Amino acid sequence: MIWNPNKECMGREQMRALQSKRLQKLVQYVYHNVPFYRHKMQAMDVAPEDIKSIDDIVKLPFTTKQDLRDNYPYGLQAAPPSEIVRVHASSGTTGNPTIVGYTRKDLAVWSEVMARALTAYGVTRDDTFSVSYGYGLFTGGLGAHYGVENLGATVIPTSTGNTEKHIRLIRDLKISGIACTPSYALYLAETLDKMGLKKEDLGLRVGAFGAEPWTENMRHEIEQRLGIKGFNLYGLSEIMGPGVSYECQEQNGSHINEDHFYPEIINPETLEQLPNGEQGELVFTTLTKEGMPLLRYRTKDLCTLHDEVCACGRTSIKMGRIVGRSDDMLIIRGINVFPSQVESVILEMQEFEPQYMLVVDRVNNLDTLQVQVEVRREQFSDDIGRMLAMKKRLADRLKSVLSISADVRLMEPGSIERSQGKGKHVIDNRQLK
Ligand code: ADP
Ligand code: ZN
Repeated sequence: MIWNPNKECMGREQMRALQSKRLQKLVQYVYHNVPFYRHKMQAMDVAPEDIKSIDDIVKLPFTTKQDLRDNYPYGLQAAPPSEIVRVHASSGTTGNPTIVGYTRKDLAVWSEVMARALTAYGVTRDDTFSVSYGYGLFTGGLGAHYGVENLGATVIPTSTGNTEKHIRLIRDLKISGIACTPSYALYLAETLDKMGLKKEDLGLRVGAFGAEPWTENMRHEIEQRLGIKGFNLYGLSEIMGPGVSYECQEQNGSHINEDHFYPEIINPETLEQLPNGEQGELVFTTLTKEGMPLLRYRTKDLCTLHDEVCACGRTSIKMGRIVGRSDDMLIIRGINVFPSQVESVILEMQEFEPQYMLVVDRVNNLDTLQVQVEVRREQFSDDIGRMLAMKKRLADRLKSVLSISADVRLMEPGSIERSQGKGKHVIDNRQLK
């Protein structure tokens, strides 16, 4: 099923024409309503009339998270305050959080793109769907919530927390679908075990997982433990929230809602646009947003774009999995390391739980990497020889994938802190020194 075949299966030329028209209108709109963009464009000597087609996007300025912070709270808002009906904020671990205002129309677009995603996952009006992203300033909860309602399925706004009660609700209300972070999906699986219940006691069928990077191996793990089919859901608050892109049944990339969010991949150093297929930083322009429209917003997310025809019938461009955020990338002894590489290795091996932590430090001017990983309960033993062999197998495998050696620490099951929202996988002590 396809929610909006008109847009999701639009001919490529037609899509480009639509994007060109929308970009022209957007540029006029921000030029006249957002001094920040007017000044930037004037400094670059670009007038709104210079933008004639979507290809002219390269003439436009980029926007960074720092720009949002510098203009905190409402400096980049284009719509008058009376038009704003809701405000969200992204987590803002450092400095000011970024504040995003939505008009009524923005919220309608959001629930439209979320309904497209859910339909692609196979969710229908007959499903009962639990939204276990956090409700509140975070976009995950309310964003998914209104998408489920728009689709016409029954939404259960469980949010996070009180996981045992949640599991009983999944069982008693015959909840068939769930939206949450992959970390929370694992936590659900663990809680299910603890309660002495089995996945067969629940009727979960489909999961919309996102808000943090996750690997193919993690997908298999969650699918197997919850008896579910897991789909990728991507988004970010600056652009909208969840629903910027979504996987279809083919599961080889996520379709971007490019009639609303125009994607580019750039080289983060030179800022040049890269051709499809090459990995770089993902950049979005919000083609239809009214509240806080953004030109060429640099997401810091690293991935590739693909324009091959998809067997599902949708014609929109697809993005590959997020390899990591450029600010998640660790440089250890000069070598780039992503937590997702470690996750992938750990989950290839039967011995380990998908629970790990990378601890980076600097000792005598040399970077060190420690990988803590939980051993599965049935694999944990007093047999030191066996444990040492297990440790060596993981260390060897990590060395061959990361090209640097890591000090492996085998941990008891349950000892690494669990997350109900976005998982935390790195402690970098070098920043403190
Ligand atoms: P922040 O985490 O910056 O406060 P958000 O809560 O809006 O902001 O989260 C958006 C970010 O979450 C994205 O830029 C991306 O890094 C990550 N993210 C969201 N969905 C996915 C996904 N499906 N796969 C990988 N990463 C994701
Ligand atoms: Zn598809």
